[in-house]
Amino acid sequence: RTGSPCLEIEGLIHDVGPIAAEGGRMKRVLAGVDLTAYAGQVTVLLGVNGAGKTTTLECAQGLRRRTGGFIRLLGEDPQTAGADLRARVGVMLQDGGLPPSARPIALLKHVAGMYRNPLPVDELAERLGLDQFSGTNIRRLSGGQKQRVALAAALVGRPEVVFLDEPSAGLDPQSRQVVFDLIHELRAQGLGIILTTHLLDDAERLADWVAILDRGHIVAEGTVAELLGGATQAARRMTVR
Ligand code: ATP
Repeated sequence: RTGSPCLEIEGLIHDVGPIAAEGGRMKRVLAGVDLTAYAGQVTVLLGVNGAGKTTTLECAQGLRRRTGGFIRLLGEDPQTAGADLRARVGVMLQDGGLPPSARPIALLKHVAGMYRNPLPVDELAERLGLDQFSGTNIRRLSGGQKQRVALAAALVGRPEVVFLDEPSAGLDPQSRQVVFDLIHELRAQGLGIILTTHLLDDAERLADWVAILDRGHIVAEGTVAELLGGATQAARRMTVR
């Protein structure tokens, strides 16, 4: 892969606990994750529930303290960086992170007001089909509508890198297409996009690079074609005698 890295992770270890149900022991959630993401590319962390995708994103954003390893986000350590770095990074809040009594456009305008050079809120809202809900409280929106508000909030500050946790969750096929088109467009503008999914189809449609995470380890990585080619070859080896 070429270009400039926007995120470099080496040997990331993250332990949680002590866990009472496991006899007071610590639990190793990430056991040495290596991942590099580039500007102008979509890097996908693919894995089943519980693989450690969200934890990896949270460590990369400095929301969780790592137990070990090295992380550079836009050249800085996210754990010690300040507001300057946060202003350059877009974060997609999950449902629970959106204030339920706010209205979508008002919330987006509020978020936009925190950045120096935000995207025009009305255009972004229209693009994501949110303009029709301008008078509706967030708590009354469907899961997919909330998901689009969260995506808009992550993008409105014109970030250089954005973390999207399961961006296609809860979206109907049409909204999914709208969101995917927007992701492609932002990638073409040079945004570094790191997203998680448990759907191979999302990876096939979006990824320049896929890293497969399983129980806290990256077990394979490459382009979709390389990974699927590899899977096909492995399947062939098992079936052709
Ligand atoms: P999902 O899509 O279900 O969120 P994920 O791949 O994002 O899956 P994580 O949320 O990163 O997975 O969680 C990885 C594992 O670590 C899970 O088994 C989770 O229960 C465990 N885990 C993470 N944080 C904690 C914690 N603070 N205490 C106990 N277990 C934790």
